[in-house]
Amino acid sequence: MNRRIAMTGAAALALPGLLRAGSALAQAPAATPTPPATPGFFRFRLGSFTVTTLYDGYFQRPLAGLIRNAPAEETERAAREAFLGTDPLRIPFSLTLLQTGRATVLFDAGTGGQMSPTGGYAMANMRAAGIAPEQVTLVVHSHFHPDHITGLTTRDNAAVFPNAEIAVPEAEWRFWTDSGSIARMPDGLRGIAAAVERRFGPYRNRIRQFAGDAEVTPGVRAIAAHGHTPGHTAFEVADGGAGLLVLSDTTNRPELFARNPGWHAVFDMDPQAAEANRRRLLDRAATDRIWVTGYHFPFPIAGRIVRDGQGYRYVAADWIDGI
Ligand SMILES: [Zn+2]
Repeated sequence: MNRRIAMTGAAALALPGLLRAGSALAQAPAATPTPPATPGFFRFRLGSFTVTTLYDGYFQRPLAGLIRNAPAEETERAAREAFLGTDPLRIPFSLTLLQTGRATVLFDAGTGGQMSPTGGYAMANMRAAGIAPEQVTLVVHSHFHPDHITGLTTRDNAAVFPNAEIAVPEAEWRFWTDSGSIARMPDGLRGIAAAVERRFGPYRNRIRQFAGDAEVTPGVRAIAAHGHTPGHTAFEVADGGAGLLVLSDTTNRPELFARNPGWHAVFDMDPQAAEANRRRLLDRAATDRIWVTGYHFPFPIAGRIVRDGQGYRYVAADWIDGI
């Protein structure tokens, strides 16, 4: 690892766990990312709503050091069984976009091409799906890690979503913006607090905070799922008897963390709470047989969860589920 690179520039925005690992994410970003040749969007119906998932790219880091509480042989075996690399391990980013008829809602904002040199395709994929950033009426945040908020603004810090209201979990907002809270943070987290101030700055007069289990917009309800961060939130989308859980980061790559819900990723600030919420939401998805999307799931990030042994298995959507 090149410590000098990791300590400058984008390093201030890197997740603490990634920064320690010296990942590609912590290194200088490429100028302009080249999108993949194939448009990365997937669209399906949920009652009268339409859900579109948007591929944003990926970052890579070694598997070693990712999981705090499992032996290397076990984590390596899980990766091998799922055809995942171990060095590097690729962890994708994708966004969930919801059209309810009344609102066009984006869950999290992606990396904006300013973090990983292999990320930042979400807006190109949104346009390929026939939707412009100007049409987004609401951006709902699950939490404020940089891979979820950087895409709010351009390199010059102009708003990417000029017509959108921004909805944020109040516990997350408090943790990253309260001066007393910031004063108590270690330096690594203070860099994220600075990024929060910067990225939300251009939206300052149109930010709405919501409580743990509030209705965020008709058809979308928050589910407090703290642990990954102090205000981390998942969402339930429901219409006409159809349901979707936007799992956010309760479960990172499902080949590892749905299969082994007791494994603790280094990104989780309170691993016990994160595990409890992961088990609760995966169990609910399996019981109710509803759709899920996961920010770090393999594209198209939409599918179902079934029980399997001591854990769960993610069953990806088929293209024929799409519209
Ligand atoms: Zn994330």
